[in-house]
Amino acid sequence: MDYEKIFADAIDAIREEGRYRVFADISRQRGSFPRAHRHDAGDNAKSVTVWCSNDYLGMGQHPKVIDAMHTALDETGAGSGGTRNISGTNHYHVLLEKELAELHGKEAALLFTSGYISNEATLSTVARLLPGCVVFSDELNHASMIQGIRNSGANKFIFRHNDIQHLEELLEQADPAAPKIIAFESVYSMDGDIAPIEAICDLAEKYGAMTYLDEVHAVGMYGEQGGGIAERDGVADRITIIEGTLGKAFGVMGGYIASSKALVDVVRSYASGFIFTTALSPVLAAGVLASVRHLRASDEERIAQQKRAEQLKTRMKEANLPVMDSKSHIVPLFVGDPVLCKDVSDMLLNEYGIYVQPINYPTVPKGTERLRFTPGPMHDDSAMDSLMVALTDVWSRLNLVRSVA
Ligand SMILES: *Cc1c(COP(=O)(O)O)cnc(C)c1O
Repeated sequence: MDYEKIFADAIDAIREEGRYRVFADISRQRGSFPRAHRHDAGDNAKSVTVWCSNDYLGMGQHPKVIDAMHTALDETGAGSGGTRNISGTNHYHVLLEKELAELHGKEAALLFTSGYISNEATLSTVARLLPGCVVFSDELNHASMIQGIRNSGANKFIFRHNDIQHLEELLEQADPAAPKIIAFESVYSMDGDIAPIEAICDLAEKYGAMTYLDEVHAVGMYGEQGGGIAERDGVADRITIIEGTLGKAFGVMGGYIASSKALVDVVRSYASGFIFTTALSPVLAAGVLASVRHLRASDEERIAQQKRAEQLKTRMKEANLPVMDSKSHIVPLFVGDPVLCKDVSDMLLNEYGIYVQPINYPTVPKGTERLRFTPGPMHDDSAMDSLMVALTDVWSRLNLVRSVA
């Protein structure tokens, strides 16, 4: 058996479709982010502007976050030294869970090593524990939710994206006595659109379903304290489980859920992905704690980010570039072809020092390949001017489409 050949063929298949992934090797420069050094640009590291970071607010370099991490490192050392159950629970974890519960107005919260794990572990555990559970899942849900639902073994119905009518049709068809979970996101990260949370909560109430909301692309950025879209819309108390990441707007790493005491306790006690893994480093927990506390009190970063996102959308429209309709801080620019998408991205990186990763299948459906811009408070006018010059140039050089297909 030629194992190597099987693997090489699998890679070739991806390459032929034009969606082989190449990682840009960059070093972010603390204090000058979104500027970064690029290492894979020949002998000299080249300076680039990052336009696709999920460190949306630049909290990864915030002085309060860095200081908290230095302090924790000096106080406690590098790692947690165990699973949460076996010597790994550090006081920073306890404080952070309390802070996150408060942020969402919930009784309790539980930390995981990533947002991915929090979705996988929670959905697989909760849906498995409810006998005969049926899960209603938005068709654009993140891979980690899909994996969690799959691993629960529960029956699953997929509703058309943000389609309340379709969701209700499916709810009507299900056994009224069966336990139900509606799983969805608030801000969808590739289109930047937002779920009708209140209407989904109304349906959940009508059909006796629990609600599971992934607020990964909203925590830190929406709501008075950065509690997400549910906080902004005043519906957080109607959501059974809110899930978030600590690696995007909060700028560090990790994931969590916030919910009732009993639900959090059951996930803590049953979820393999929580139990059998080393707890987050206290250094990370301390950094996140500082970040969450800062963003609960300050809306300066949120306001600046929204302003930059609006600006970029407007400028793209004025330049006749096919910016996709987005209701959030995410700015998707349509290309519609995987090979061209990679070409645009390469050209921007190599010739203009602009780093925006191509977004291809399976992250988005085939034929909707795009560049995904995430402007933030640190993208200043001159960065935006340079970006617009580069995009205008590249769009005419490659004769790219001018409207969203
Ligand atoms: C990034 C992402 C996650 C996973 O969070 P990580 O902390 O990066 O593991 C979960 N859900 C959505 C919608 C995401 O975009």
